[in-house]
Amino acid sequence: MRELLSDKYNRLKEREAEIENAHAEAICPGLKEFVGKKLYELRSSPRYPMSEPEEWTVTDVGVVAKNRYELAKFLGGYGFPSGRVTKKLIAEAEEYLDKLEKVPLDMYDALFGLERFSEWTDSNGERRTCKTSRGVKFVPGKGFEESLSFDKDSFREKIEHDKAEYEKFYAPREGYVACERCGKQVPETEVVKYNLIYRAYDNRAGRQYVAKRMGKFCSGECAMNEQMALEG
Ligand SMILES: [Zn+2]
Repeated sequence: MRELLSDKYNRLKEREAEIENAHAEAICPGLKEFVGKKLYELRSSPRYPMSEPEEWTVTDVGVVAKNRYELAKFLGGYGFPSGRVTKKLIAEAEEYLDKLEKVPLDMYDALFGLERFSEWTDSNGERRTCKTSRGVKFVPGKGFEESLSFDKDSFREKIEHDKAEYEKFYAPREGYVACERCGKQVPETEVVKYNLIYRAYDNRAGRQYVAKRMGKFCSGECAMNEQMALEG
């Protein structure tokens, strides 16, 4: 009897995936064709420029709630009912699937599952591989967030721009220092010096104390911002 119940439960769980796949296909037709494709990501800024986008592979596609609280309210819970498989749990799962079929499609965005492998040489000279997985949203009609694209070349302009800005403002130069806040190079003669006041922790005494440190900035604005950040 137990065996039969768990078979039934597993079938319902598969049904959940089928319904979600159908939702994904409805909000973004042709979504499945992206599985296996390369997706590129550029997390570059003038301060920290990248010369190449990172390369991810799409492993799967699905749906994600625009607002998980709203969706949970609609479904009466945060996901497929789980626990010890009993008749009661089966009934809950069936009820859940009934509601899942009726979820208004505008409650969803598409979700791409991504993975990438990075390789490096460790301190013993051995090659190491590390797999990173994550999900990214795809908003129907809008697309991905700016840093992601299937078109590697779409980042060329941004890469050139950030590289030029880096050379102009951030690359270390003789007779200059980097602003502690924004990282811009300032001539030593124009540095704004500012006494930062902050709370530090004395481990030995086991208590907080007020500490001071001289910071070097490009402007009074950066000094103020740093001071405010230290105050939390
Ligand atoms: Zn600055």
